Amino acid sequence: MERVYLDNNATTLVDPLVKDAMDPFFTKMYGNPNSLHSFGTEVHPYMGIALDRLYSGINADDDDDIIINSCATEGNNTVIKSLYFESVLNNKKPQMITSSIEHPAVSETMEFLERLGAEIKILPVNSEGIIDPDELRKAIDPDRTTLVSIIWANNETGLINPVKEYGEICRENGVKLHLDAVQAIGKIPVDMKDVLADYITFSAHKFHGPKGIGALYVRKGSGIVPLLHGGEQMAGLRAGTVNVPYMVGMGQALDLAVKNLDFEATEVRRLRDKLEDAILEIDDVEVIGRRELRTPNTILASFKGMEGEAFLWDLNQNGVAASTGSACSSESLESNPTFVAMNIGADLAHTGMRFSLSRYTTEDEIDYAIDVIRNAVKRIRGISSTKNKEYI
Ligand code: PLP
Repeated sequence: MERVYLDNNATTLVDPLVKDAMDPFFTKMYGNPNSLHSFGTEVHPYMGIALDRLYSGINADDDDDIIINSCATEGNNTVIKSLYFESVLNNKKPQMITSSIEHPAVSETMEFLERLGAEIKILPVNSEGIIDPDELRKAIDPDRTTLVSIIWANNETGLINPVKEYGEICRENGVKLHLDAVQAIGKIPVDMKDVLADYITFSAHKFHGPKGIGALYVRKGSGIVPLLHGGEQMAGLRAGTVNVPYMVGMGQALDLAVKNLDFEATEVRRLRDKLEDAILEIDDVEVIGRRELRTPNTILASFKGMEGEAFLWDLNQNGVAASTGSACSSESLESNPTFVAMNIGADLAHTGMRFSLSRYTTEDEIDYAIDVIRNAVKRIRGISSTKNKEYI
């Protein structure tokens, strides 16, 4: 076995069918879809097909908007800053509610707005790693709260929040709700007729689509103030020439992801559980969050007596790619890999290692990874116990 990729919450391989669907739009049908000549008009219908796939993939209503953008980071920034701008335009001091386990694309945007004068309330997680709907209910001030922004499924633990209840609470109080759905789409059903969120954001590369394209769902009547001005694309809600090949790819990828949801819930879950059972047989290991509450592909395991970088390096040397946390931020090794685990109360003397599977993960790969993980733990714990003896 050469290499095993178990870092699918960071990004996924592009499904070959997605690549095939995108190909013609690079060198054959490359016109600007807004041009009135045939090079432009021949491209237009394919944007329509891609949009239809996105609408049906999340069961959006025809009257809702889906704004194509560059990634979920852009989507999250757009919603949060848009609601801030709206308050400022109405001479109101914005108050926003978020949680302690958001991706930096939400938490750092909130921190920035706090510096500009917004009031930000941060909800803690309960002992299960979930944001309790009652905490949300208590935090909302119907007269002042501008926006609630909570992650649908967490990128590190895979824990799924009770978003349907959040939707009902926000609706009762007349407060807008945004859900970062990046780690939910393609792993669990996302149905916008069932979940009453005003906005959701997602990124194609998390469900076997290309990197650098995402979408922002806006429920009819919820409105959005554009972040990017300068063109009439996306009905004036996001200026900039649309990336047609990637949009086509995202539509195809979502279509395939939705068709594979049963496979995720059964086969991907079975392999994840096999890996998790084997990890739990190792001494002094804990997995964060109950299995039933997590997306079917994710394990965040806390290994006692292991140094994170050494563990990751050893796994990598033996061909297994995992992550010590949010890979989006692991360019800097100072990133705090276990901040979610810490919020849940896990012991931080332990290293949190995330293993995330996809529909492309095979049984042979899982068997191989189990061996590599067991051996890495033995080796590293062996080295650290020798080091400890030297100190004595
Ligand atoms: N939100 C969550 C929950 C994520 O996991 C990520 C990426 O890991 C993002 C937002 C940002 O996605 P992108 O890098 O595609 O903008």
